[in-house]
Amino acid sequence: MTPSQTPVRYDISRSDLVALLDGEPRYRVDQVWEGLHQRGLDPAEMTDLPKALRAQLEDLLAPGLALVAESESDAGATVKSLWALSGGSRVETVLMRYRDRVTVCISSQAGCGMGCVFCATGQAGLTRQLTTGEIVEQVIRARRRAEPRRLGNIVFMGMGEPLANYAAVWAAVERLHDDVGISARRITVSTVGLVPGIRRLAAERLPVNLAVSLHAANDELRDSLVPVNRRYPLSELAAACRNYHAATGRRLSFEWAMIAGVNDRPSDAAELAGIAKPLHAHVNLIPLNPTPGYATSGTPAAGVRAFQERLAGLGVNATVRDNRGTDIDAACGQLAARSIAPPADAGTGAAADPALPADPAAGRRSADLLLR
Ligand code: SAH
Ligand code: SF4
Repeated sequence: MTPSQTPVRYDISRSDLVALLDGEPRYRVDQVWEGLHQRGLDPAEMTDLPKALRAQLEDLLAPGLALVAESESDAGATVKSLWALSGGSRVETVLMRYRDRVTVCISSQAGCGMGCVFCATGQAGLTRQLTTGEIVEQVIRARRRAEPRRLGNIVFMGMGEPLANYAAVWAAVERLHDDVGISARRITVSTVGLVPGIRRLAAERLPVNLAVSLHAANDELRDSLVPVNRRYPLSELAAACRNYHAATGRRLSFEWAMIAGVNDRPSDAAELAGIAKPLHAHVNLIPLNPTPGYATSGTPAAGVRAFQERLAGLGVNATVRDNRGTDIDAACGQLAARSIAPPADAGTGAAADPALPADPAAGRRSADLLLR
């Protein structure tokens, strides 16, 4: 195998591994597969393998993520990791340790093409899709980073729109469930509201939690905040949500970034209740986090509480999301992978890593986007 054909570690399938280990005793396939997925080991750490094989696998199964930087906040409870992918694009992962659970927020795309006006990732545009392996590896790395705590929950609420990278995201969900051992009820896919994707998700074999980023409950306002609403208006979105709930039995949640004077009025609460109540949906209120491209401020804390109480009065359960990592740009909607400017040449911190094949053109494209 030449270096240019080197597969990224978690992008190989089990049958690829069988082929790769041709000539080795059969039990090696299980050893390596479990070492990678259940124990999250690098091949070099698989001490139950002969040394020569470890070294060979270390070359053949290059990691897909190279750590560029890590920042911590909330006294170390929140950790944001900035990763370089092959080709130089960058994505971020956020690990959140709570008293009772540990959650990782993972990215599904480098950037995002959906253009929600208040979101830093959307403001950067889409650089590229992530592969299944790159998605899975974020979880594997986070699980090790979380030790000795046990990583319990996965949310697709990092960079990107998961349902705009459907095949890779779904294959990652299956891998995380089947091979990494994470239950579907501990996996949440968050979407801006791509109706065909929601319908497809409803027909899958694993019932994951679905979060829909609503932010407005009338079409005129939602068109202006979330441009994809022009394609999939609220009536179609609500129908797809109803179908999801009926097909999977999973509770739906709606995300609502609270924007002062824009979507925090009593009329907004009434419209939101009109959609959420019949669907028995839970509402997550997220005080708007500041981003460079959107000047309007978030609703002050007292206004968020008042909105929550108004919803409760209308029969809708809402919680206010605890905003982790705002100071390190790790909170919802702040991920833009720009905390460290990529080098001017290939635009990638990964260029120094021989494991990651360089694609200078792609690197420059992403650097341009990220530096904008
Ligand atoms: N693309 C998916 C998942 C990633 S965004 C989606 O949109 O659902 C994760 C959540 O952060 C979404 O609910 C999104 O609307 C929200 N968000 C984006 N920008 C935000 C901001 N500036 N402040 C608060 N929440 C924001
Ligand atoms: Fe993309 Fe979600 Fe941000 Fe909208 S909120 S631009 S869909 S990442």
